[in-house]
Amino acid sequence: MTEFPTVWRSTGLHWESAVPLLTAIPLGRTEQRPIAEERRRPIAPGQQICWRLRGPRRCTGLWNGASRTDCPTAEVVASVGVQSQCRACAAADHGRALASDRATDHRTFALYLAWFGPDLIKVGITAAERDRDRLLEQGAIAFTLLATGSHGAIRRAERLVTGTGLAAERIGAREKADAWWILPPENERAQLVEAAYTAIHDAVAALHAGRGADHGPGLWPPGLSLASLKVVDQAIDFGLTEPPPRTYAEAAAVRDGAILAGEIKAIIGRLLLLEGPAGPLLVDMRRIAGWQFTLVPVKFIAGRPSGLLHPSALYSTSRRMPRDDRGDQKSLF
Ligand SMILES: [Zn+2]
Repeated sequence: MTEFPTVWRSTGLHWESAVPLLTAIPLGRTEQRPIAEERRRPIAPGQQICWRLRGPRRCTGLWNGASRTDCPTAEVVASVGVQSQCRACAAADHGRALASDRATDHRTFALYLAWFGPDLIKVGITAAERDRDRLLEQGAIAFTLLATGSHGAIRRAERLVTGTGLAAERIGAREKADAWWILPPENERAQLVEAAYTAIHDAVAALHAGRGADHGPGLWPPGLSLASLKVVDQAIDFGLTEPPPRTYAEAAAVRDGAILAGEIKAIIGRLLLLEGPAGPLLVDMRRIAGWQFTLVPVKFIAGRPSGLLHPSALYSTSRRMPRDDRGDQKSLF
């Protein structure tokens, strides 16, 4: 017997085999306990969502890359921010443990160089079996691999590249989103990735030269397989072939009873760009993860939800393209 759930708990948005998926746990009518495993809904521009969010926001448990383990205590977590794990689940999270070198992993890993916009270059690592899903989740506009190898060797290589000062370990969400307005054409993006790739190899070689000639072929850690340059561009995966609207609202915080509604215009990393009831709205789905929701029937008129009686209760801030003086520029809307 399959019970159709009336209440769900969002667990966010992730990419699998280059397909963006909204994930949620069916809670049935009890609203607390899952009645089945997490469901995944592939999403694409043109689809519509209309959810009424309900608190309290609860821990989303553990995700191991293939399946989710529910939080044993369904712990209430902070209603704001992108963190949806309680302290115990965060401490047990394998991905977090790997990132802080508290765990090892016997899978093959890849070291990548990701480009998010002019002067926004990041180095990072991903399990090779995830292919480019991690890069899609981060919203990387273009990337190339630098190397593959064991987790330990790849982490050492990551620190080596970070030490050159040519690639950041982290790039903020605001910087990434600001770059969407000023992306150069794809061929220029490829050139910029290539320039960064070459500069990093040169910098590593220069380190080698500085240490004398008896260090073998460069200072890359042993056990790595260096990757030749192959730029992969992902703007089309995100629907960023045109810039986003020059002004849009960005969801900053959720309050009990908030309505999340709109037609999907773009899916960029873990963010949704919606045409909402009051205009374009950018939502980081990590802020929604942990909230319960029910589906609200709503009419969409000309691609925009209409007739919503409740105030949204989705606190938002306004974002505007800096130096907005290019009157002839096309945009997504
Ligand atoms: Zn938990």
